[in-house]
Amino acid sequence: MEIKTIGVIGAGVMGNGIAQVAAMAGYNVIMRDIEDRFVEGGLKNIDKFLSKSVEKGKMTPEQKSEIMGRIKGTTDMGSLKDADFVIEVVIEVMDVKKKVFAELDEITRKDVILSSNTSSMSLTEIATATNRPDKVVGMHFFNPVPLMKLVEVIRGIKTSDETVATTIELSKKFGKEPVEVKADVPGFLVNRLMIASAIEAIKLYEYGIASKEDIDKAAKLGLNYPMGPFELMDLTGLDINYHVMDYFYKELPKELKWDPPVTIKNMVKAGLLGRKTGKGWYDYSK
Ligand code: NAD
Repeated sequence: MEIKTIGVIGAGVMGNGIAQVAAMAGYNVIMRDIEDRFVEGGLKNIDKFLSKSVEKGKMTPEQKSEIMGRIKGTTDMGSLKDADFVIEVVIEVMDVKKKVFAELDEITRKDVILSSNTSSMSLTEIATATNRPDKVVGMHFFNPVPLMKLVEVIRGIKTSDETVATTIELSKKFGKEPVEVKADVPGFLVNRLMIASAIEAIKLYEYGIASKEDIDKAAKLGLNYPMGPFELMDLTGLDINYHVMDYFYKELPKELKWDPPVTIKNMVKAGLLGRKTGKGWYDYSK
């Protein structure tokens, strides 16, 4: 079956980015959200990004209008009946995702793959809302979608080899670099690596083995990280990092557990959340 039309459920930060890369790769896109204002917001964002590309001479105004012409924004879930592959990008709430998957299972053709951009949830559990768990898969993009190359393709316990292969192929057609995650463990690959390095950095700091500046410098100059772990935590927010550490601590099996360091716990309590509050590991207030 040839994939020509991609259904994108959710027109938010990630949804409109995914709709954009799909349309830029030549696919027709049906982008659905629950209210007109969200659909319009998504379309406006894509328009803004493409206008900048035109200004920079990266594409012609004609190319821009062709791409925009391939994206149909809608609030009608029924129009997903024409989709050949669906990417769900709604809010990170299991009940909402399950409801969307149950609806998609009714509306779409039986051979259509239903993927989710979830950052943390079990694909195995999402798949229970459908009668096609072999066709449910994770397709995890990174923010901002048009610029970030990676896609994690994640298997639920019943996901078929064919579904994984098609999703990997589609990621490549989108101009992305896919990696296969063979089980839907919390954090998949990227967040596990990110949290592991964050925890190790905080522990080295807590034990007084090095200053945070030197730990960041070591990661950048010794490991070629574009940003040190403390700088990255300040950027993404200490509250979010702590929340994920805590979640992994509860969910992961004992041999894979990392306990969240007390320093980040206390900093979150004190409102030292990073760039968004002006101060985290570093001071941004000046
Ligand atoms: P967002 O809040 O910007 O967008 C979510 C959109 O889903 C909203 O516009 C909302 O109206 C819409 N929505 C809710 N219920 C819907 C339904 N039934 N049908 C259609 N649309 C519906 O959120 P986001 O940041 O784009 O995140 C979406 C998903 O992507 C989440 O699962 C999140 O974990 C994941 N994700 C986010 C990031 C990130 O950096 N923001 C990165 C990777 C993955």
